[in-house]
Amino acid sequence: MEAPTLSSSFVKEAAIRVGFDACGIAIASPLTEEEWGYEEWLRRGYQADMAYMEQHRDKRSDPTLLVPGARSVIVLLSGYKSSQTMQDCVSGARIAQYAYGEDYHERIKRMLFQLIAAIRQRYPDFEAKPCVDTVPISDKQWARRAGLGWIGRNTLLVNPVLGSYCNIGELVTPSPADLYDKPIENRCGNCHACVAACPNHALSESRANSFAMPSQSMVTTEGSNHALSESRANSFAMPSQCIVTTEESNKALTHSSINELTHSSIPLLDANRCASYHTVENRAETLPPDIRLSGYAFGCDICQLVCPYNQTAEVRYTLTDERKAQLEALADANPTTFKRLTKHTALSRIRHSQWQRNQKQRKT
Ligand code: SF4
Ligand code: SF4
Repeated sequence: MEAPTLSSSFVKEAAIRVGFDACGIAIASPLTEEEWGYEEWLRRGYQADMAYMEQHRDKRSDPTLLVPGARSVIVLLSGYKSSQTMQDCVSGARIAQYAYGEDYHERIKRMLFQLIAAIRQRYPDFEAKPCVDTVPISDKQWARRAGLGWIGRNTLLVNPVLGSYCNIGELVTPSPADLYDKPIENRCGNCHACVAACPNHALSESRANSFAMPSQSMVTTEGSNHALSESRANSFAMPSQCIVTTEESNKALTHSSINELTHSSIPLLDANRCASYHTVENRAETLPPDIRLSGYAFGCDICQLVCPYNQTAEVRYTLTDERKAQLEALADANPTTFKRLTKHTALSRIRHSQWQRNQKQRKT
C-alpha cells in the first residue's frame, strides 16, 4: 500500500490542535557529520559514561534505518518555560525547569499519538513511528532541519520566539509531504553569554570541517564551563503563529541547501563537565569535586537562563502553589516520599540516593 502524500498545512494545523506549539517537516535524508559533528563529539569522549550514545550511530543519523522507507520527519515542539523558577520561590534545591511538571516523555508521547489519530482522519493509511527521547534519533538536529530553530552555543535548539525551553518529539513516516521546511540561519551572532555563564567550562565549538579547535579556546570569559546532557537538551517551543510557514520555508529541501545553512562551527558539550549530566546521569556515589552545581540538585539551567532569546520566551508552564510546595518538600523527603512526589515527572529518572548526593554537593 502506497503511503499517502501529506498536506503540510493540514499536518501543522492538526499539530496545533492537539496542543503542540510548533511543527516543521524535514526530508528524511541522512544527517551529515559536517552539519552535526556527532562523531567528533564521541571522539573527544564528551559523552562521558553515556555508553548508549555510542550505540545505533547509524540510526541516529539516518531515519530510514529506524523506519524503512521513511520519507519525512515531522518534528513537534512543546514549550516548558515556567512562570517562575525555583530560585524565585524555593529556598531549597534548584531544579531544572523541564522537571517542574509532568514528565515530558509521557506528555509528548500522548500528544504524538493524538496527532497520528488526527492525521488518520484525513489519511486513513498514514503510518508513523513516534519518537520522544527514547528512540535513537537526534531531536535537536531534526528540529533544526525542520526550520524550527538553530543549534545555539549552548548546544540546544533555540527557537527565535520561544528560546530553548522546548521539548521535542518526532513522527518518522514513509509518507512524503507536499512541502518541506528548511533550516533557518543561526542567530547567535557574537553572543557568547551561555559559554561565559557556565560554571564548569563545558561548552565549546568545533569547526565544522576540521574540528581542530580545542574546547578551551572558545571559552571567552572566566568561569565558563558549559556541558549539556542529552537529558536536558530535548525541549523547545514555538507559538502557533510560527506554524505559518514563509514562502522560503516551503521550498523543497535538497542536501546542498541543508549544508549551505549549516553554521560554520558546531557547538559541542562536554558531558564530563556538565552539572546537568552529573546530577541526572551520573550514578556514582560521589561527584567529581570540581564540578560546581551552583545550587542545583537536578539538572542545570544556567546556560539557558542567560540566553537573550529566553528572556523574551513565552511562558508555557505555570508553577502552581501546590506544585511549589511539593518541590520544596523534596528537600527533606525520605525515599518513599521522594518516589511519590517525583512520580510521572522527569525527577523520577534519579534515585533518592542520587538526590541526596546532589543535595550535599549543590552548594558548590
Ligand atoms: S547545563 Fe550548566 S553545567 Fe551544563 S553546560 Fe549549561 S551551564 Fe554548564
Ligand atoms: S546565550 Fe543564546 S543567543 Fe547567546 S550564544 Fe548562547 S545560545 Fe546563542
